[in-house]
Amino acid sequence: MNIDSIKNGIVIDHIPAGESMTIYRLLHLDRLDCSVAIIKNVVSGKMGKKDIIKIDSTLDIDLDILGFISPDITVNIIRDGARVEKKQLALPEMLTGVLACKNPRCITSVEQELPQRFKLTDRENKVYRCIYCETKVEIKR
Ligand code: ZN
Repeated sequence: MNIDSIKNGIVIDHIPAGESMTIYRLLHLDRLDCSVAIIKNVVSGKMGKKDIIKIDSTLDIDLDILGFISPDITVNIIRDGARVEKKQLALPEMLTGVLACKNPRCITSVEQELPQRFKLTDRENKVYRCIYCETKVEIKR
């Protein structure tokens, strides 16, 4: 794959430097058959350094997870070599399977097959609460 010219695919840009592997893991990009390019520590005027991920396929990306990693991330959809869509991200209302509840008495600690789910309760201060026991998680980003 020529990483500069994707014909049909997705470019995830403005990833905070060092977070591309987190995204790679959370989006399960290792399971894809298509080419995936991770470009780390690209010098960016706005951010200092950033990471970029290029995916040579138009799959559905979990924007919730990207919004959780950083609301600054941009997702560009490329078709026939041109950008046709730029998606805006925000902190998701609900996070499933991303955070883990630290309360040892939470039902998710006892019943491990229950999905870990957190609801955004304070967007300004980036506070999520476990939907089962309301244990608070503050996102420090
Ligand atoms: Zn909990």
